[in-house]
Parts: sequence; structure tokens; C-alpha cells
Amino acid sequence: MIEFQNVSKIYRGGKVAVEEINLSFEQGEFICFIGTSGSGKTTSMRMINRMTEPSKGKILIDGQDIQKLNAVELRRKIGYVIQSIGLMPHMTIRENITLVQKLLKVDQAKRDQTAEKMIDLVELPREMLDRYPSELSGGQQQRIGVVRALAADQDIILMDEPFGALDPITRDSLQDLVKDLQERLGKTIVFVTHDMDEALKLANRIAIMSEGRVVQFDTPENILKNPANTFVEDLIGEDRLLQARPDKTMVGEVMLNTAITITTEKSIQEALRLMRAKRVDTLLVTDNQNILKGFVDIESINKNRGLTGSVGDILQTEVFFVKENSLLRNTLQRILKRGLKYVPVVDEQKRVVGIITRASLVDIVYDVVFGEEETITDAVESFNTDEVKEG
Ligand code: ADP
Ligand code: MG
Repeated sequence: MIEFQNVSKIYRGGKVAVEEINLSFEQGEFICFIGTSGSGKTTSMRMINRMTEPSKGKILIDGQDIQKLNAVELRRKIGYVIQSIGLMPHMTIRENITLVQKLLKVDQAKRDQTAEKMIDLVELPREMLDRYPSELSGGQQQRIGVVRALAADQDIILMDEPFGALDPITRDSLQDLVKDLQERLGKTIVFVTHDMDEALKLANRIAIMSEGRVVQFDTPENILKNPANTFVEDLIGEDRLLQARPDKTMVGEVMLNTAITITTEKSIQEALRLMRAKRVDTLLVTDNQNILKGFVDIESINKNRGLTGSVGDILQTEVFFVKENSLLRNTLQRILKRGLKYVPVVDEQKRVVGIITRASLVDIVYDVVFGEEETITDAVESFNTDEVKEG
């Protein structure tokens, strides 16, 4: 719907503000431009409604080169919101909400309809339409400010750090509101921010800018999983990366390759010797293809006093295992919850490829899930607490 083709902006004096950007937004998307100050976010956004003209390349809206459209008409079709969402003090709420429509010469009946629809959307009483901004609380005024931006029949809305000056709580609730309204009204929003939390919360896709270039353009999820470079990593921040990291870690990456196994046809005597030699009290049992069949432990051997027969005779087949290509995040809690000392790791054919021990798990939990701040004891304790809650 909105397409940047090799767009550059060089200001008079030679400042390269935007360099060779190629982006394409779909209708109904919430797009955030994010980046440090001076990275070209505002310039990129303002080129969409020709408040700023590109020096090179072109921008298409619905397949049309906007350079060939009348700039004034183009601008009327695109809403634009800047930082302060101040309402006009001498206009009623109704007049404020429908200001753009009035400028566009929409008739009164239609404007009244819009005003009512909008005030319903923000769940304020319709009587409020004929009051003045000063009669409303600050929070109510801000909600009106947001719907005013969405009230005109414009499919595309540009917002340049609209919530930048607000306190965190107000910002949070206005973000919820704008996202909800954007989805319900099917608007396409291009939103500039320097706040990664805001971008991650609002955007369907985020364009990350640095020194006039787009360094990454992707969904919040993919950006968290695969930051394009260290600049993006820094922007995301270590905390969020730590949260995202367990998503990627697979069991196979953290397992030990030292599973001690024995095959079913071996004698119990041999099993006992192996346990002594390796100083373990449990052995994984496999068939000759190394496929996991179960386990034997010292207790079941002790019960079987004669010590004759084979491993297969005393095999315990109920064994909890995990696959090497499963996500650690999805298995970690189950492993810890069962209070197992170790868990065999298998491949797709259920062949034993490794083992995860409780001891190694504590290190993993420490590194991956909790980062460096908490102690190991804290980490284990919080898992135990989870267990109690869920149990
Ligand atoms: P952002 O919104 O990411 O902070 P801008 O798009 O406003 O960045 O600016 C990008 C770069 O272009 C900055 O270095 C800025 O100083 C420069 N710039 C912006 N507007 C002008 C202008 N009218 N004339 C000259 N340079 C400008
Ligand atoms: Mg800016």
C-alpha cells in the first residue's frame, strides 16, 4: 500500500538524512520507525505526505507515484499527528474531534455522526461532546486527542512521537487505545518513536533506522529473535534479549554428550559393574540401534536379589525423555517439575544422543532464563515456587 523505492533525502547543505530506503507497508498495518535521534525517522515519515520531498527515488501509495498527485489533496487523505495532542481550548469536544472533517468540508450531519462514534469508542458520555476541553480531566482530553486523529476518514495516519511527552502510565493507556482503535477501524498507521517498548507493543512491523538507513525491517518477534546487528541488539537492550533467548535455545545445544547406556541383552551383573565404574545409580537402556527402551537403577537391581538374568528383565520402561530439537524453554519447567536428576535426550528416531542433568540444568537456568542478576539459589527457588502454585 505504501512503498518506498530507493528513497533518499539530502537536505540543502548536503546533509544526507535518509539514504536509499526500500520499504513496503500493507494496508491496515501498524508500522513503527524507531532509531536514535537524527536517524531519519521524521524525514522518512514526512515524505509519505510530501511535507518533505525525496531527493531521489519514489514513494507509491496504492501503486500511484505520489509525486504525480496534488500535494494538498494527498495531505488531506493522510492524517498527521505531532507530539502534543493538545485540543483547541475554544472549541467544543465535538468541534475538536471533527476539525479535520470540517476543513475537508464534510457536512454537519456526517460530522455529528463521527463525533458520536468516536466518543463511544473511547467510552465517554455523548453529553461531553458539547463541553469544552477545560471541563474534562487531563486523561479524558488525551483520549479525545487520540480519537481526533482517527476521526477523519483518512486511511493512513502518520504519528510523530505522539506520546513522547506523557508520563508512563498515561502513555501506556493511550497506546492501548490507539492500537485498539487502529485495529477496529482498519487504519494504516506509520508511527515514529524512539522507545523500543512502545514499538514492540504497537507495531506489526518495525523499521529500525540508523544514520539514515533502515538496518532491519521485520516483526517485533523476529527482531527479538534475530537482531540484525549489534546496533539493533543495543536498541533492544539486554533485558529483552535475555527474555527472548530461551525461545531459540534447543535442548540439543545444552545437553551433555555423556549418557551412560547399556543394551537390553546385557546381564544384570554387567549393569552393576558399569554403574560402579561410572559412579552412577541409573543406566539408560537401549536396543542395539541405540533406541531408548527405558532405564535400570540400583534399587531395582537390589530388589532382584539373584542378580541373574538380563537388563531387559528388570527394565523400567516408563522413562521421561526430551527431543534434542525441542525448545529448551518448553521443556525446562517440565524437567525441573518432575524433580528428575537427569533426562535422556533423543533424536527423531528416539536414539539416545545425550543427557541433561539437574546439575547442568541449574547452570542453564542461571544463564539463560535469569541472566546474571539472580543467584543460582534464587533461580531454583522460583522454579520450586512455580511448582507449588501449579500443583
Ligand atoms: P529523527 O526524526 O530520526 O530524529 P530527522 O529525520 O528529523 O531524524 O533528521 C535526520 C537528519 O537530518 C538529522 O541529522 C537532522 O539534523 C537532519 N535534518 C532534519 N531536517 C533538516 C532540515 N530541514 N535541514 C537540514 N537538515 C535537516
Ligand atoms: Mg523526529
